[in-house]
Amino acid sequence: MGKLHSQAMFFQARAAEKVANPILQRALQKAKPLFVGKRAKGIGALADDRLEFEQLRSACVDIRNRVLSDLDVWLDIFESQAKATGAEVLWAKDGEEICELVIDVARRHGVTKAAKSKSMLSEEAHLNEALAAAGIQPVETDLGEYIVQLAGETPSHIIAPAVHKTLDEIADLFTKTHGRPRQTDIPAMTREAREVLRQHFLSAEMGISRCQFLIAETGSAALVTNEGNGRMVTTLPKVHVVITGIEKVVPTLEDFATLMRLLPRSATGQTISNYVSLLTGTRRPGDTEGPEKTVFILVDNGRAKLLGSAYQEMLRCIRCGACMNHCPVYFSLGGHAYGWVYPGPMGSVLTPLFTGLENALDLPHASTGCNQCGSVCPVRIPLPKLMHQLREDQVTGGMRPWSERFALKAWAWVAGKPALYHWVVRRAARYLKWLADDSGRIRVLGLAPGWTVGRDLPAPAGKTFQELYAARKRD
Ligand code: SF4
Repeated sequence: MGKLHSQAMFFQARAAEKVANPILQRALQKAKPLFVGKRAKGIGALADDRLEFEQLRSACVDIRNRVLSDLDVWLDIFESQAKATGAEVLWAKDGEEICELVIDVARRHGVTKAAKSKSMLSEEAHLNEALAAAGIQPVETDLGEYIVQLAGETPSHIIAPAVHKTLDEIADLFTKTHGRPRQTDIPAMTREAREVLRQHFLSAEMGISRCQFLIAETGSAALVTNEGNGRMVTTLPKVHVVITGIEKVVPTLEDFATLMRLLPRSATGQTISNYVSLLTGTRRPGDTEGPEKTVFILVDNGRAKLLGSAYQEMLRCIRCGACMNHCPVYFSLGGHAYGWVYPGPMGSVLTPLFTGLENALDLPHASTGCNQCGSVCPVRIPLPKLMHQLREDQVTGGMRPWSERFALKAWAWVAGKPALYHWVVRRAARYLKWLADDSGRIRVLGLAPGWTVGRDLPAPAGKTFQELYAARKRD
């Protein structure tokens, strides 16, 4: 279902549109230094920041690799432990099955309204549309998700869904939807949203949430949030449904504690998130809160096929968002340009893998190759390497345009003949100098005009490096 909604093939057109949007650019330029600065401070707060950070990274990589090498075993353990605590465990192979299972659980329990905490997997499944079509009202309760839902949009960042919106846009949206006087004071606006959402928390019969990790040894879901909505969604309604990817399992509570030393620091720079909840089973006799029914929906949707492939490392991802927060491409475009659920460098790898490489041809190229993403990833996912691998797969799969393939073949042929190569490079250096205008800039790059659509280039000297070097030696 999610695949049908992907707009990733329109990346280039959308990117051009986003770059030219001054409101979006203002919102992005304001957000980037906050993300980058907070993470730097969070990592810097470790005892000996660089050393401890690298040690923690190694420990987190080991935990995630250990899980992935025996994923079926840890999922089996999780399932039996969760069932022992009274939870139901269901399995979904794709987005369509997620929707069917959630609607079936809702119907079994007479649910008419579902309060939701942020869940990227429900975005993969387009669950809100499916719930509404089944007569169940979905209400997003994470503030960013709530704003995005009111605006009829999709999240543009995995941890800050409304990062693309300005304060004025949100104030207008609240005034229109809540029918109250316009406010631009952030705490007052938050209070207003809280008052509206409170009624939904109290009347929803079902809560739907993600979880950051599944703990195999206890059969628990670990939910990490900065807003109290996560706890409301998971404890007030009579039914709680957790939707999560199969790769999210970790063996023990101790492993979870280790990962938690890097997850909030990498995401928001916090040493610990405001709310860290371990949700185990259902309400027991004597409990004052908690759901009467807990259901885990464990989702594949393209994950299992990555096991044992060249892309297995991507399954280590703990969805911290650090890669996009440091990516110059993401912060020039925002998340919507990427056309599917996951933006930024992690999306440039995940979207082609989950929705088909042929449906996301431009995304592996949406990179400057600066490796900012790889250097901040807490679980050392080599994102640039994976993007290169995807590009290679495009070439070997015959997915690149014939003109590009022809040009590369011709270049390879020329590069294999040193005399011809030097002759061509000498002619090219002169040609590029000739292209420059009086100010010494190339405004339109003759044979590849796409390179100069949004920028110009300094003209080269008109001679190759070897020619210049030889001339200097002579002098
Ligand atoms: S790829 Fe790494 S940096 Fe990006 S979201 Fe995943 S864990 Fe975080």
